[in-house]
Amino acid sequence: MEYLDLSPYEYAPFPLPLRCIGWLGREHGVQGDGEPPVTTAELARLRATSQRLGSVMLGVHECEFCPEESAFEGNGEFRYYLGNGESYSAPMMVLHYIEAHGYRPPLVFREGLAETVDLPWDGRAQRLSEILLDVSQDLDLRYEAVIDLANWPDARSLDALERAAADEELADIASEEIHRSRELVLGRLKP
Ligand SMILES: [Zn+2]
Repeated sequence: MEYLDLSPYEYAPFPLPLRCIGWLGREHGVQGDGEPPVTTAELARLRATSQRLGSVMLGVHECEFCPEESAFEGNGEFRYYLGNGESYSAPMMVLHYIEAHGYRPPLVFREGLAETVDLPWDGRAQRLSEILLDVSQDLDLRYEAVIDLANWPDARSLDALERAAADEELADIASEEIHRSRELVLGRLKP
């Protein structure tokens, strides 16, 4: 799928508004011509923040800018929650686009990411924790909430994840991700 940078994300159902980053394709080509080049520090920061894939069920996508016989393949997406309140989604291939094809993500995103430190609990975290614990919600969305709640190193994240682990239906499909999210939150939780 191809979307303009910063346009509202609408690829898959998601409980929070996201903006698109790096959903590149043939129609608009490698976007970001007017943006300054990506610095080494920006790339390192982006790589460090691109650790956990969500929505991996969406299917493999081949890079449309690589030679066909050796095209890079990606699956899933990264989501970025910034301290300024903005949230973004990028396909897993976003790092490849930057490194192999000179893609330049919007500066507003890069700057927001650089300024983001540990996120304080906010409405996004609250919404994700509610979905995580709401048995009437779609299981796929609850699974995504397991992954993304780890962005908030807060006791409330930990509490929600522990209650999720006790939910058999969710634990059945997401026990590994619940465990990983708990570890991540525990590792960053302030005493
Ligand atoms: Zn490529």
